[in-house]
Amino acid sequence: MASSSLKPDIRDFTRPELEARLAALGEKPSHAAAVFSLLYRKGAASFGEMGELPPRVPAALAGAFFLSPFKAPLRRLVSRDGTARLLFAFGGDPAEAVVLPGKGRLSACLSSQSGCACGCAFCATGRLGLARSLAPSEITAQFAACLAEAGGRLDSLVFMGMGEPFLNWENVKKAILILSDGRGHHFSQGKMTVSTVGVIPVIEELASSPLKVKLAVSLVTADPDLRARLVPMETRYPAAKVMEAVRRYCRARGAQVFLEYIVFDGVNDSPEDARKLLALMKGADCRLNLIPYNPPGGGAGVTPRAKLFQKTMMAAGVRTYLRLEKGSDIAAACGQLAAAEASRQPAGD
Ligand code: SF4
Repeated sequence: MASSSLKPDIRDFTRPELEARLAALGEKPSHAAAVFSLLYRKGAASFGEMGELPPRVPAALAGAFFLSPFKAPLRRLVSRDGTARLLFAFGGDPAEAVVLPGKGRLSACLSSQSGCACGCAFCATGRLGLARSLAPSEITAQFAACLAEAGGRLDSLVFMGMGEPFLNWENVKKAILILSDGRGHHFSQGKMTVSTVGVIPVIEELASSPLKVKLAVSLVTADPDLRARLVPMETRYPAAKVMEAVRRYCRARGAQVFLEYIVFDGVNDSPEDARKLLALMKGADCRLNLIPYNPPGGGAGVTPRAKLFQKTMMAAGVRTYLRLEKGSDIAAACGQLAAAEASRQPAGD
């Protein structure tokens, strides 16, 4: 729980959980709807700002909960292409969120953890290691800051920032429920995508879950040996097994999965690599996102080999998108801003 006192932070609770707490306090569970509206729509920053409720309700809530002050970003960087990166420190632990413009749309990318234990070789966050998983209130605080940065309108939301969302799934799930609540931000679950490097048990859970969020899997590369070097999670959840879970997910939900493939120039972008990827994807209803590797300091961008790779995949009938680099002048790859900050100065509230 994100709390600076012994009491839990009220923003860490979904509405049904809050209803149960209100009932336990002897209050009507239905007050939870007004509390949500006050917290997430009207921006109440203290229980004293809940005058719309019968006075004993905020008093009871104040006795049971802590209401954290709104967490504003410590630092904000805007790229030449309009990408805005927001760096937070939650109790001293860094995390970042990004607002990405594109084709008249604005998306936000949120962090689920401060740092990450997965240790992917190409990732700045992986080099930080894991500080801790973020609380639901710390995830929703990033959303609120991104929404303000975007002028009050966001078209989509991705959980692809720092951390592996499926290794903090209970809190990410709560954040999804809070953000999509009709009395809160009411942000459609269908506009949210959760990305994983392949934590199979949660892919399985999501396959039969009522949540409407979309799934993205960071395959990174299709060659098992190369993947094991780049994504240590390969040894626990091999890509071949991950893709079996993806096929089951697609069948159970009748939904497509986004596969993220990071293109390392001259490393995994040959015709042979494309053949391996096609074999791995066989029978799975997937769209492919090719992401040119963007190391700290700038990468090769979209190379002729990457374009040829895309062409090969498309010729085989796979819907394939080659993503343009965003925010390279402000360290766009996942976790780079926080990593740069962490190496420069200790983060603090
Ligand atoms: S790529 Fe994602 S899962 Fe891998 S270390 Fe970075 S944040 Fe963690």
